Amino acid sequence: MQAEHETERHPALRAATELSAIIGADRLRTPEGREALAADLIVEPRNADELSKIVFKCEVDGITLAPLGGARTLAEIRRTHVTLGVSLARMSRIVDYEPEDMTVTAEAGITLGALNQALAANRQHLPLDPPDPSSVTIGALIGASKAGPLRLTEGGVRDLMIGVRFVGHGGRIVRGGGRVVKNVTGYDLMKVMSGSFGTLGVVIEATFKVRPMPERYTIAMLSCRDPATAFEAAARIHDALPLIHLEVASPGIAQNLGVARDRFGVIVGFCGNRAEIDYQSDKIRALAGDAEVEVVRLASALRLYQRLRDFTLPVPGISARIATLPASLHRSLQDCAAEFCAHAGCGVAELFMPGELAADEAAKLVARWREVAAVARGHLRLLSAPPAIRGGLDFFGAPGDGVLALSRRLKAAFDPVGIFNPGCFIGGI
Ligand SMILES: Cc1cc2nc3c(=O)[nH]c(=O)nc-3n(C[C@H](O)[C@H](O)[C@H](O)COP(=O)(O)OP(=O)(O)OC[C@H]3O[C@@H](n4cnc5c(N)ncnc54)[C@H](O)[C@@H]3O)c2cc1C
Repeated sequence: MQAEHETERHPALRAATELSAIIGADRLRTPEGREALAADLIVEPRNADELSKIVFKCEVDGITLAPLGGARTLAEIRRTHVTLGVSLARMSRIVDYEPEDMTVTAEAGITLGALNQALAANRQHLPLDPPDPSSVTIGALIGASKAGPLRLTEGGVRDLMIGVRFVGHGGRIVRGGGRVVKNVTGYDLMKVMSGSFGTLGVVIEATFKVRPMPERYTIAMLSCRDPATAFEAAARIHDALPLIHLEVASPGIAQNLGVARDRFGVIVGFCGNRAEIDYQSDKIRALAGDAEVEVVRLASALRLYQRLRDFTLPVPGISARIATLPASLHRSLQDCAAEFCAHAGCGVAELFMPGELAADEAAKLVARWREVAAVARGHLRLLSAPPAIRGGLDFFGAPGDGVLALSRRLKAAFDPVGIFNPGCFIGGI
């Protein structure tokens, strides 16, 4: 009698009991680490059919559900806490890899690091580079539309994904695109699912175009006295050479990469055969103005790139991502007055404000950053904030009316009952 009463009161207990009967108790577990901030109970389906039954059951009973990779996003936003977290840890196979066609299909629970390790056997890779790829699942990569320095030449998830399968409304398994590059039929569900933050369904499988790994990867590191000199040098180099990536970093971050104290760094990645590397290195020196230039090659360049890619804010502090027109980025960063690492050719930068801030100071800071972004006709999202103040902060900011109306229509069509990650997207969607 007591147990019956408990399951009535706690949706998680009720869900656990009923899901055990449908898919077996061994697929359910208590949340671990960050997962506990996002969900009450974790389910680990082994295949699409099991997940389909889970989603169907959740929809019938109005149980909220969140697809989880490393669970960092929901742990940050905090206001979104769901009954059921879906981990795809048991759905992490490479389904199909065609090195000659340069395509790969993988289940969404595999990490980017593991996928790239397999592709490396053919000197190929999926050129997406969020921090610490060994902890980022393909599902989270798609859900958060994660990208890093390589976005300059390779674009983002939406540019490389050519097929997707997800479990959506009613537990249906939906397919978009295909496994071949020349595939033009149907709605472009790949773009819809990129950056949807798990609010439209659970991605179970995706197909990507892959690329050859760069030959003789090299970095030129410029050390500049002020941000104007750094951005001007970056623009000259970008106009003159085919680069792999191009970052401008403020002193607090540049120093971590080996740039002299109080100097702004320009980190230029490029590749080619020996003669091409020598030509490009000379050209960069000539275009660098009065900046000091150090050229770092091969294994040392790779280690430096990994430090650049994996840089995270020393806690405590606030980080955000600003996107503007590339030509406006320098001015916007000056107005934000924070540490930054800018993808200079793309108009995207991460902002970092280290240190303890009171809740009202943090809210004012974020409002000021958002104003700067709005003036440049761009936008700003918070990425992380200290636990004590993050609950009071608006992570996404107010979207334009057109964007919000369209996003609401998509949500209503894909998730009419509202079970997928409610409140985890713009406008509280
Ligand atoms: C409000 C906010 C906005 C952000 N915007 C960006 C951004 O635009 N670009 C960027 O690079 N980083 C962004 N980030 C940072 C990004 O969320 C972090 O990189 C975070 O570290 C990802 O965490 P994770 O790997 O633990 O994945 P998780 O937090 O577990 O997953 C990331 C997102 O993808 C969803 N997801 C996970 N698996 C699946 C799946 N199988 N199917 C469908 N959805 C799935 C999750 O529900 C979550 O919403 C943002 C963070 C926050 C808090």
